[in-house]
Amino acid sequence: MAVLIKNVQLFDGRQLHKSKDILIENEKIVAIEDKIDERLVENAIEDNYQDIVKINAAGKLLTPGFIDMHVHLREPGFEYKETIETGSKAAAKGGFTTIACMPNTKPVTDSKEIVEYIYEKANVNNGVKVYPIGAITIGEKGQELTNFQELKDAGIIALSDDGRGVQNAKLMQEAFNNAKSLEIPIIIHAEDDSLAASGHLHDGQKAKELNIKGIPSTSESIMVARDILLAESAKAHVHFAHLSAKESVDWIEVAKAKGIHVTCEVTPQHLVMCDEDILEDHGNYKVNPPIRSNEDQNALIDALNKGVIDIIATDHAPHSDDEKNSGIEKSYFGMTGLETAFAVLYTKLVLTGKISLERVLESLTSKPAEIFNINRGHIFVGSVADMVLIDLNDKKVVEVDKFESKGKNSPFINWDLHGWPVLTMVAGKVIYKDERV
Ligand SMILES: [Zn+2]
Repeated sequence: MAVLIKNVQLFDGRQLHKSKDILIENEKIVAIEDKIDERLVENAIEDNYQDIVKINAAGKLLTPGFIDMHVHLREPGFEYKETIETGSKAAAKGGFTTIACMPNTKPVTDSKEIVEYIYEKANVNNGVKVYPIGAITIGEKGQELTNFQELKDAGIIALSDDGRGVQNAKLMQEAFNNAKSLEIPIIIHAEDDSLAASGHLHDGQKAKELNIKGIPSTSESIMVARDILLAESAKAHVHFAHLSAKESVDWIEVAKAKGIHVTCEVTPQHLVMCDEDILEDHGNYKVNPPIRSNEDQNALIDALNKGVIDIIATDHAPHSDDEKNSGIEKSYFGMTGLETAFAVLYTKLVLTGKISLERVLESLTSKPAEIFNINRGHIFVGSVADMVLIDLNDKKVVEVDKFESKGKNSPFINWDLHGWPVLTMVAGKVIYKDERV
């Protein structure tokens, strides 16, 4: 099978090209030219292939398939919230071809059996590629380290206790030392329990207005500072998940200037919202870390522009309606994000001139690939055809009943957004097209 995509605006992982033709044969890209002569292709193809699919993509944008290093697929254990299958479908619809799933499942991904279970369930039918992330501590209890070697051999891409912070500094130091010896990156959910204790929203004006207990920025930034120091002493790679606070970004800028191996991510929700945007006491606004002040939001945008923040990840965290529909205090933390990520970023950051299209695309493709050693994220002759075609002019209202995800807990419901994926391809095979996975 061959696919010829004509007249498309191309982002190849580094830069934008105005108009290109791209030929894909089987799994790979075999030609990228200003113009590919269709008759030559047809002649060459006739001997070897049954069919050629031609796509006139004038006015659309082709990019490497998006990579999301922070997804909660909820399986095993919480299949009522999401399964590996429904989460993968949501990813395909959002233009993601590679995702990494967090270990706070039941049981926790703290043994090779669970890693193997995820691999068995995922990656079927040439769908979205799923990489498990292993837990740092057994049961994510913060008391005893998992067997990093066993997890690495089973195929984890990184270690994390996401969902909670590892409170014990000595244990975290040991984790960094072990991770360094095996060259595994550690993804930090930076949260000090004693400071965050039972808060629900950013400790600011909105929390006061709603009379809800706040979560101070220091609960995050103190752990960012601590883990920079611990990673530095172990010479390990530390990656900070979902940054929310200006002070955290300041510490990371200093650490990078010192040459410490630090990388980090930010979510679309923290980039496009601040606590003033919380319009009602609804669980869909509740996320950990919380949506912070306008000053924090601006600092995150600035840091992404400067490269202090490396990548964008969704922290897609589906929950059931019951878990989200009883007000902020009683609801669980988490927002879904796979299906809306690009349109949110494009509409609220690119079209408003806050961040360039290239920077957003790079943060979703080549940068995560380079940081986590994933052999994707670029489009070139010879590369595997993991790609997404986006209609930048397509304008749609986010409708909750159209989500592929089981989780309907999105803060973006009813938002009017531009720039929707129309076709997602993994290894040359179309896995999403025209609103159908
Ligand atoms: Zn987290």
